[in-house]
Order: sequence, then C-alpha cells, then structure tokens
Amino acid sequence: MNKKYILALDQGTTSSRAVLFDMEKGEIVNIKNKPFKQIYPRAGWVEHDPEEIWSGQLEVLRDVVNSSGISPGEISAIGITNQRETVVLWDKNTGKPIYNAIVWQCRRTADLCNRLKVDGLQDVVKEKTGLVIDAYFSGTKIQWILKNVPGAMEKARKGEILAGTIDSWLIWNLTGGKVHVTDYSNASRTMLFNINELQWDKDLLKYMDIPECILSEVVPSSGVFCETSKDILGVPIPISGVAGDQQAALFGQVCFEPGTAKNTYGTGCFILMNIGNKPKPSEHNLLNTIAWVIDNGGNTRKGNTNTGEKSNKNADSSVSNGSKREVTYALEGSVFNAGSAIQWLRDELGLIKTAHESDIIAENTPDTNGVYVVPAFTGLGAPYWDMYARGTIVGITRGTKREHIVRAVLESIAYQSMDVFEAMKKDSGIELKELKVDGGASVSDFLMQFQADILNIDVKRPKITETTALGAAYLAGLGVGMWSSKEEIAKNWALDKVFTPKMSREERTMKYMKWKKAVERSFKWDI
Ligand code: ADP
Repeated sequence: MNKKYILALDQGTTSSRAVLFDMEKGEIVNIKNKPFKQIYPRAGWVEHDPEEIWSGQLEVLRDVVNSSGISPGEISAIGITNQRETVVLWDKNTGKPIYNAIVWQCRRTADLCNRLKVDGLQDVVKEKTGLVIDAYFSGTKIQWILKNVPGAMEKARKGEILAGTIDSWLIWNLTGGKVHVTDYSNASRTMLFNINELQWDKDLLKYMDIPECILSEVVPSSGVFCETSKDILGVPIPISGVAGDQQAALFGQVCFEPGTAKNTYGTGCFILMNIGNKPKPSEHNLLNTIAWVIDNGGNTRKGNTNTGEKSNKNADSSVSNGSKREVTYALEGSVFNAGSAIQWLRDELGLIKTAHESDIIAENTPDTNGVYVVPAFTGLGAPYWDMYARGTIVGITRGTKREHIVRAVLESIAYQSMDVFEAMKKDSGIELKELKVDGGASVSDFLMQFQADILNIDVKRPKITETTALGAAYLAGLGVGMWSSKEEIAKNWALDKVFTPKMSREERTMKYMKWKKAVERSFKWDI
C-alpha cells in the first residue's frame, strides 16, 4: 500500500486541529477543527479541561481521516504539535487528570516565581534552561498543582502521578496509557530541563519540590518512539514527530541553517531563529530554547515501545545512539500585540470594518504623516519586557487622519519585529539574510513589504501557511524515513511571494530612529 499520507495533530490554545497531508503532492488534503472551552476561574487564571482536549482531538483525528475517503493504512505516520508550556497532571492508574490543565497564559504562579527570583535564581535558570523566570513556563504550574490539590504530593512521591505538557498527555492517550514521553522542544519550555546536559535538572526540581518520577521520558522530535493503539484508527500508526508549536513552525519553514528565521504574525508575533548546535543564553532579553532534536538512528526509545516501561530519564540513555542525535537550538522573542492591534482598530476604534481594509487604506496612504502607534496594550514583550508599558500614539498634529493611524498600526507590527531581530543579531552575531513568514496577518502584502523595507532583507511567504502542522508532518515523515534528510524536505517548501526591500537607507534609518523614540514614550506608564 502506498503510504503517502501524514496526519498532523495541531493542538492549539483555543482549538484542536487535525490536518491530513498528501506528501507526494505536498498538499493539504483535509483539515478538521474543534474549539474547546477556555476556563477563567479568577482574574489572570486560565485553565483547560484535559479530557475535553483529548476527546476533541480524537474526534477531529477520526473525522479528518474518515471524511477524506482514505484508508488509515495509507497513513505512514502521525506528527504532533501543541500549545507549549501548558501542563496536565494525571493519575497513572486511572488516566484521569487530577486538576484542569494550567494554561501558558495563566499568571497564578507569579508569586512562586517571585520567590525563585528573591532566592537569586535568575542566572542559574537562564544558564540551565535558557529561559527567564516567569509564570509562563510549566515548572511552577506543576509545583502549584502538587501543593494545592489535596493528596497530590503524597501520590506523586509514590510514583502514582504523571505530569506532562499537552504533547505528553495526547501521546499517553493515543497509546492507550502505555507511553509517557515528551520531546526535547517541549521539555525545554518547562523551566525544569537543562538544555546543555539534555536532561531534567535535579537542582531545579529540588528548588521547586517536584519529584522527578512524575516527569516523562524525553525523546527526539523526530524518530519512531511509539505507535497509536489499535482502538484509535483500527490499525496502529507510528507517532514519529513531536514539537512545540513555534518550533514546529520553524521546522515547517525549513529554517534548517543557522541564521535562518521565521516570524509568525498572529494575535502576537513569534520570532524564532535557528542558531545551530550549541546553546547560547541570551544577553539581550530573548529566550534560548531547543528547536528540535533529530534522531538519525532508528528506534529512539529503549525497550519495547508498548510496554509502558520507562527507560532512564537521562536523555543520553533514552535515545538509541547519542552520537546520531542532532540537537538544534533557537533564539526566540515574542511580541505581545500584533494582529490584536488590527482587531483593536476594527472592534474598539471602529476605524476599519475588516482586517483586510487596513491593508487597502495603508496601500493608499503614502505615509503616516509622522504618527507612530506603540500597541503596548498589555505591556511590552521581547526585548523590552516592560509589563507596565501601555499603548501610545505620538506625533499627532492637526493634519492627522484616520488613515495615518491605521497605517501606523500596521507599521508598528513590523517595527516591533525589527526590535526582536536587532536583539537576535546582537545575541547571535548572525546577520539575518531573509525572513520566512506565516500566520493570519502575513496575508497582508502591505505589512510584508514594509517588513522587508525596515529589515532590509527579503521576506518570503510560503504557499502553505499552515506551517505549524506542516512542521509536525515533516518531523514525522523524516522520523519514518519518508525523506532521507532535511535537505530533501527543503525541496518541498514552495514560495508564494517574495517581498524585496525598496526603501532607501536614509528613510529606513530615520523611520526606525523615530520608532525607538516612540517606544520609549510608552515605557513604565502604568506604575
Ligand atoms: P492566532 O493564531 O494568534 O489566533 P492567526 O494566525 O489566526 O492568529 O491570525 C489572526 C490575526 O491576524 C488577527 O489578529 C487579525 O487581526 C490579523 N489579520 C488577519 N488578516 C489581516 C490582514 N489582512 N491584515 C492585517 N492583519 C490581519
């Protein structure tokens, strides 16, 4: 049977998707999507129901296969990509979650993080994990559940509880409760994983009082580490690709060489740059994270994949042959408000009726007439990390029109991304040569052209902008040997449009200088 299909499961923050790819044609055959509840128990707290995530994911998985008319036997592999940092703790014997999933956005552990900071752990955490101490990451969320769910810590110490990010939770369920694994890219977002030694960090686990036995075995992002139970689709299918959503998008954009980067323009912007095979803690307020680990040596786990037995969690012993393992690191920076600023123009200010109208207005307005908008609605992310910054409009004169504000908002998305790239350049010493783009707002030709102008490099938009799912599919295909190398995958990447810089150096320098002045005006406003 020709096994030309790969099924990608894309478990996001607001919905679970299943995307079926025909890898011979390099096309999407079918997509199914199921949203789920967002639970806000208190201001700043965000939870998901893990059972709802699992049942919704399973539903779309089956639906996408059944409604496409293919036979499950034609699927060569499954790839998984997921919302990162969100954690689930479940009972090992019953498979039932002991609490809702605590979502990456949830701020409930800010105090636990402050305590780590007071204890002076910033440098240690940065050195070991590549991250800054923040409630965003999984570690303190696990700590919170163990402390606050009655009896949880006691059971955890006895090895009766399992913990994992969403990839881990899905794989546990897809294998009928037999396999408890996560991949390196997801592990690197927990604030518990040592990205230099490639293993759970005993010191950090001790500080956070988390028993190591509840954590999953860490496996490569690509390589066969288990297969689905027969109940899922009637035949077992290898699971051979796993990566957190942003890392999967970097892979889907075939950013395989050091110095290649992608920017995903959604509600916010997520910018990742491949920096090669060595970790490099950021000196300019970015995150250093594992992009992916590729196993080139066949079966990636010790022992029988379906026995449920765990091998030593030390990463070096969890792969078949350490020398064949290829680790790639990335620098990451995120902008909190990007596409959300377009929504603000539409929903709060009523200056546009649709997101697309912003592009038409901007195309037909030669400049912003000196206006700069800094959409720091919820503070500023990388590289400023100012949670007290607030939105600012500067340069207004009697001649300022609606069109100028609209254009300035679109431009602000490109300027904020430029700020992150400047930090990346300083950190990595690498000059960016081109930028791959995806996400909802990357459809805007105006924004993409302006981004090329401000960065002074080519901006490339691919034909398939579902790069997160595509990345998971590529990782899975590589894992089962559908391609022999990453170079072969790169040949599949197809360009939709390239945007070449047209702005003069003087204009670019002047505009960016003014932007930096505008950003300064937004700092520490809400103090
Ligand atoms: P997310 O995954 O974060 O929900 P998406 O990748 O779906 O986001 O992108 C949606 C965002 O893209 C919205 O914030 C929207 O304002 C923005 N957007 C959509 N179309 C355009 C457009 N033509 N011009 C500018 N922004 C757009």
